[in-house]
Amino acid sequence: MNQIPSEPSKRLALHWQILIGMIGGAAVGLLLNLMLSTTNVTVHESLPLGLEKVVLQDSTNTVVITAFDQQGGETIYEIGGTLTAEFRDLDRFKDAHPGLHEVFQNHGTSVARQIGMLCKRLGGLFLRMLQMVAVPLIVTSLTVGVMGLGRAERLGRMFRRTMFYYVCTSFIAIVTGLVMVNAIQPGLRTSLTSSPTPYTAESGSLSEVLLSQLETLIPTNPIRALANGDFLSIISFTIAFAIFALLIGGKTADSIKNLAQAGFDVMMKMTMAIIALAPLGVLLLMLYVTATHGSAIFGSLAWYMLAVFLALVVHACVTLPLILKFVAGRNPWEFAKSMSPALLTAFSSASSNGTLPLTMANIEQRAGVRNQTSSFVLPLGATINMDGTALYEAVAVLFIAQLEYGEMMPLGAQLVVAMTALLASIGAAGIPHAGLVMMVIVLQAVDLPVEKQALILGVDRILDMCRTSVNVWSDSCGCAVIDSLDD
Ligand code: ASP
Repeated sequence: MNQIPSEPSKRLALHWQILIGMIGGAAVGLLLNLMLSTTNVTVHESLPLGLEKVVLQDSTNTVVITAFDQQGGETIYEIGGTLTAEFRDLDRFKDAHPGLHEVFQNHGTSVARQIGMLCKRLGGLFLRMLQMVAVPLIVTSLTVGVMGLGRAERLGRMFRRTMFYYVCTSFIAIVTGLVMVNAIQPGLRTSLTSSPTPYTAESGSLSEVLLSQLETLIPTNPIRALANGDFLSIISFTIAFAIFALLIGGKTADSIKNLAQAGFDVMMKMTMAIIALAPLGVLLLMLYVTATHGSAIFGSLAWYMLAVFLALVVHACVTLPLILKFVAGRNPWEFAKSMSPALLTAFSSASSNGTLPLTMANIEQRAGVRNQTSSFVLPLGATINMDGTALYEAVAVLFIAQLEYGEMMPLGAQLVVAMTALLASIGAAGIPHAGLVMMVIVLQAVDLPVEKQALILGVDRILDMCRTSVNVWSDSCGCAVIDSLDD
């Protein structure tokens, strides 16, 4: 296999560059938000819905609308049952009031938000590049990896070990989350004044989610799965393809192996070139988040955030390093340093799928894990192993239960939360806010009102960033563990 040249040693190491980009982006974004985030616009021109005047206020992450009709300035236009409506994110605002959203975009958007949105588009280019290489990288890498394993029993053994690791660590993460939320009791310490708006995430029942996961393992059209980027379908089909190529053996197996190897080398080279842009991409994305959400993203719901954060820290800095040290025999600090570009990108992009090419490149080239392990363990992990998400589901649902009932949830119900959180995390896609949508299943399992989720929407982004890093960290540790067990 061709060796990809490592980064030039004179330049600042990539993870430092990314860290600087992240802090710089956050600092500039916060500054912008502080100075240029509030706009109070009164719009008099012809308005949708027969209204005469609309006041749009854009302050930090909240859009406030007050609307007046033609009969003398009384505020009679009711949105969401109140005279003034607040929308914590623009997409929901747009869905609810497309006309007003347009007015807001044209007249009411603050400078901070405008700059933030521009940075989102520009930073999005970096994410698009990562997405661009993800599918071909997985296909070629997995084919090379499976064919490199040589024998079907070896693959079976790796699959069993990988699943065992994934389920165990996710379960430990959930227990850590439950212990933390019971110890801190954030729902009993918080006095939330904002009135919740109904949250209408669509999600099927638990059994439905499991069955559909099973179905995606058998794509009816592998080409469509490739085009749609359905990772699970792509993984299962590629593995089947490589296994059957191995079974045929001889010239057929050789040509497929050579072709996959050539494709893999090209894709890896391309990925490395894209990764060089990571510091800039991360800077832009952090700037977007902080310019549009302001410091409020760190401020409200502090106890709840603290519970999620501490539990994530315990899992990422104690549990996983112990497994890494004693099972894989690796130095956790050195390993984390090798994986830091991927971890920081996961943090700023909040997407494990988006980060996958970087995770694969880091683990092979900086952490020295064999391709035959990483090409199998990592794509599977990005889809089904989400320790951070599982933990987050458990803490968030117990927090909501504490708010709802004013007391701690009974142990039996907590067990149901644990089981469903595990399955929900397996079902969640590796994209931003996927965990929030899957939470509906957990809430329903313990009869909690789904609309109470509205309370935690405002801080989901920052927690999503943290849990995504933990998801990627757990995948990486799993990869090192499985690699060390394989001979
Ligand atoms: N954003 C997470 C990920 O990509 C999923 C989640 O929302 O928890 O891993």
